[in-house]
Amino acid sequence: MSLNPLVDSRDVRFILFELLELEKLNRFEKYKDFDRSAYEDTLELAEKIALDQFYACNADGDKNGLQFDPKTHEVKVPESFHKAFRAHIDAGFHSLSFSPEEGGIGMPSSISMAAAEYFNAGNTSLTMYCGSITGAMHIIAHFGSEEVKNMFLPQMMSGEWGGTMCLTEPSAGSDVGALKSKAVKQADGTYLITGQKIFISNGENDLVSNIIHPVLARIEGDPEGTKGISIFIVPKFLINKDGSLGERNDMVCTGIEHKMGLKGNATSSLSFGDNGKCVGYLLGNEREGMKIMFMLMNAARIHTGVQAEALSSAAYMHAITYARNRIQGEAKPKGPKSPIIEHIDVKRMLLYMKSTVEAMRMLTLFLAYHEDIMYSSPLADEVKEATAIVEILTPIVKAGISDASWLVTAEAMQVYGGYGYCQEYPVEQYARDCKVLSIYEGTNAIQSLDLQMRKILMNPGQYNYAILKKRMTETIDKAKGIVDDKYIAPVEKGLKTLDDIITMMSTQLMEGKIAALFANSTPLQQAMFPLISAWLHLWSLTITIPKMKALVGDLKGADRRKLLADNAEAAYYSGRVMSSQFFIAAEFPKFFGKTECIMNNDATAIFATSDVFTGAPKE
Ligand SMILES: Cc1cc2nc3c(=O)[nH]c(=O)nc-3n(C[C@H](O)[C@H](O)[C@H](O)COP(=O)(O)OP(=O)(O)OC[C@H]3O[C@@H](n4cnc5c(N)ncnc54)[C@H](O)[C@@H]3O)c2cc1C
Repeated sequence: MSLNPLVDSRDVRFILFELLELEKLNRFEKYKDFDRSAYEDTLELAEKIALDQFYACNADGDKNGLQFDPKTHEVKVPESFHKAFRAHIDAGFHSLSFSPEEGGIGMPSSISMAAAEYFNAGNTSLTMYCGSITGAMHIIAHFGSEEVKNMFLPQMMSGEWGGTMCLTEPSAGSDVGALKSKAVKQADGTYLITGQKIFISNGENDLVSNIIHPVLARIEGDPEGTKGISIFIVPKFLINKDGSLGERNDMVCTGIEHKMGLKGNATSSLSFGDNGKCVGYLLGNEREGMKIMFMLMNAARIHTGVQAEALSSAAYMHAITYARNRIQGEAKPKGPKSPIIEHIDVKRMLLYMKSTVEAMRMLTLFLAYHEDIMYSSPLADEVKEATAIVEILTPIVKAGISDASWLVTAEAMQVYGGYGYCQEYPVEQYARDCKVLSIYEGTNAIQSLDLQMRKILMNPGQYNYAILKKRMTETIDKAKGIVDDKYIAPVEKGLKTLDDIITMMSTQLMEGKIAALFANSTPLQQAMFPLISAWLHLWSLTITIPKMKALVGDLKGADRRKLLADNAEAAYYSGRVMSSQFFIAAEFPKFFGKTECIMNNDATAIFATSDVFTGAPKE
């Protein structure tokens, strides 16, 4: 296993094969032909393409960006993106988890998620073009008529055609139900689409010869709000009967955004039906648009968490290398000039980043593993439990990890000192690239409401939460006797505190105190992410402590340092134990401050009218 500047591959293997015991998925028919070496080969290939191709053109995308031609309405991505994009597609990563019958490879989602960390750490803007094909293919494969599937899937599967997801409009962002795009049914069963979509990722580009847009619109006469929304497949080029590209559909890209980050990805404004001739094909049934788009959005939300994890990882890994090489000051009084990695405060920053990135990785892969069970197990109870885990953790993966990535990437800049603020080093790009992750795919406020209301309080019997609690309690019990109580007690106390909060919120719901609940939805989400992280770290300690003891024994001082310098495995387990202990004892207790804020039920945000925000002009 090679060392790389983006992702700790040893840690990926630890989580997949030691913590989650991924090979046990082979008990399911779907995965019976895969073994560890097949998984390892796939991860190694992902790592190689991510490093050699994606990472190699990451700065090019950021510095030179995209070219939009207002005459042709076309967007050129950096030339360097083309070869890397093809390498990803030709290796089949965009269809890794599709079944062989559908034209894919049929690997577990856990492996495609781990591979996605490599690609996103290499070049997030470029990975988005690849991932959007996967997302659009999923909903076409599930909900398309035979005609629609035959028309679009083969060329998407081969990566010749790209995809998007088109929800947002100028006056419909978080409030998707306010959209104005319209659809009118034609005699031949197709629909004519009119409307404007904005902020559409991958919306126009020259990596592919056609772009397949899933578009939310309202059929004339259908009800207002989300209930009246349908979804249509709108290709950039129409398709001839023989499957070849036909004439240009009546839709164009009218411009691209100039953004803080993700500068290699075309965030496009799209205009549909300016000449009344934009053809769309209904997906599923009329007025099922939100249900279908949710399938795509749920996957995209999880993927946003993976983007955040990947950018945090790349920032952290660069910070380690910089801290090892930058000489500044003396770490010991009257000692020699030292690399900054020897200063206690720099080690503290690195431990914060290391433990947070590892928690992010455990969380995304734990969720992916349960997706694999959910879609493969023949046992109804097992599927029900796995579904509960996926449902409750999806908003935490999206919101918790994206919020944390902004802090982790900022901390990486801090490790670099003044150079962290300069474009000479890549860390400032990671911070700029990750900021949008708390905004798109539904802002983190919307994720928090989803977590609090749909996933916990209004979930029938609060089953999702009960399953999560059961899993956490099992870990606490298992840790006793292996892990020092100093690291178990905070997690146990944290779970009890969360339980008190959920009980309080359930009462507020019964009493109709909705405003009080809304005042605490983001604080609840922001408290749950560190608690879940602490729990996952405790779980990992139950494995890493015995392994570390077996490798390091009772060695102390210089002998221990020598062993860790010579033995990579001993160093890995020792470092993993330290970061888990650091997280639980030095980082996680901030949770209790957050939960005290929630328990205070302060009503200021409820009663503050817009007039109390004085000083700024009203318009
Ligand atoms: C780089 C980029 C790529 C994107 N890619 C896509 C894409 O591919 N497809 C697509 O359809 N869209 C895409 N978007 C759009 C993105 O999903 C929206 O920007 C996002 O949903 C927020 O909508 P808005 O910008 O209109 O903000 P608003 O909805 O106006 O929100 C502004 C603020 O108000 C808060 N707010 C709004 N409503 C509520 C509420 N009910 N409760 C509490 N707080 C609320 C929000 O949390 C936010 O803080 C992209 C955006 C960007 C910047």
